[in-house]
Amino acid sequence: MIYLDNAATTKPLPCVCEAVLSALEKDFGNPSALYRLGIDGEKIVSGGRKVISKVLGCTPEEIFFTSCATESSNAVIFGAAENYGKRRKKIVTTAVEHPSVAKPLEKLEKAGFTVVRVMPDKNGNISAEDIVSAADSDTFLISCMLVNNETGYILPIGEAFRKIKKLYPECITHCDGVQGFLKINTSVRELNADCFSISGHKVGAPKGIGAVYIKKGIRIAPLLLGGGQEKGFRSGTESVPLIAGFSAAVRELGGSISERYEKVSVLKSHLASQISGLSGVKLNSGEGHLPYINSVTVDGIKSEVLLHYLESKGIYVSSGSACSKGKKSSVLKAFGFDGNALDSTIRVSFSHEVELSHIDVLVGAIASAQSELCRVR
Ligand code: PLP
Repeated sequence: MIYLDNAATTKPLPCVCEAVLSALEKDFGNPSALYRLGIDGEKIVSGGRKVISKVLGCTPEEIFFTSCATESSNAVIFGAAENYGKRRKKIVTTAVEHPSVAKPLEKLEKAGFTVVRVMPDKNGNISAEDIVSAADSDTFLISCMLVNNETGYILPIGEAFRKIKKLYPECITHCDGVQGFLKINTSVRELNADCFSISGHKVGAPKGIGAVYIKKGIRIAPLLLGGGQEKGFRSGTESVPLIAGFSAAVRELGGSISERYEKVSVLKSHLASQISGLSGVKLNSGEGHLPYINSVTVDGIKSEVLLHYLESKGIYVSSGSACSKGKKSSVLKAFGFDGNALDSTIRVSFSHEVELSHIDVLVGAIASAQSELCRVR
């Protein structure tokens, strides 16, 4: 199997499986319980806060565990609207956000908030200035992703948030950092982010665990009410085994961000040069894109057809993003993809475990798809 859909999810790392199993077997106490078994679970939870805070450059007290990044972003958006959206009514975002940000914002829009969506320019770029100029003194929240999950485009969040904070210090800055976490610098202080959403299963940890950084002093109303876990921000008994797994992944990958980036950049260059030898195939993710995520258009073959053709050869990629499930991607449309490209674009996403030979196999399979499928078209 050649797995090239790491932006959708990742295979759990061996150290993660070990940590999860060990916590399941040994640390099954409720982390809120006062006896030893509970205290051991609580140690795993607080240890997890520590490792994640180190990568994000914040304090452990500023990290809150959730079930996934979707929950993290929903909580921030609705919680900020509840506490900061009484007087000011405007939210700034981009037209290329993941549905976990776009959908809650649509809901707020229906409830009477004004949502401004910054569009990429004709070259598919969004400048910090475009984001900053969409905000004004009525804006209480800005929510922008760090890396686009369909194309790998890196947004200029650090610069945009710094300027926003200077002009409108009371505006809350939220970043969906899912596709950038453990791949590029995600120091929340350097990014000027008040809130930052991350997910476990994109970084070698299990599904069902996420976290959110919330800067000390920022008051986000809780989405879930109950037993008051996570300092009242997120009620519900913490999943000690999943937190153990998330922590193991962050510990394993946190110290090798630049080495893995270098390795994956070599993979991307190889993909680019191999693809340049095929006519009718285009790599859409060039400079300014994260090398881990590559959008590739194969003229004349519908992405779903190509996806299944590749699957039959044991190669796994996705069509656009895993969430779009056959629907035309509004994100690719916003990035300026035309009708044909919208139908014929796949996403090839790497992890550091991908090898150069896997790319040769992929490109060879795309070439045979072109000759076999174009014949029957
Ligand atoms: N944000 C981005 C940019 C993503 O790519 C994804 C997953 O595809 C999410 C949020 C949602 O993450 P989760 O599956 O943890 O809810």
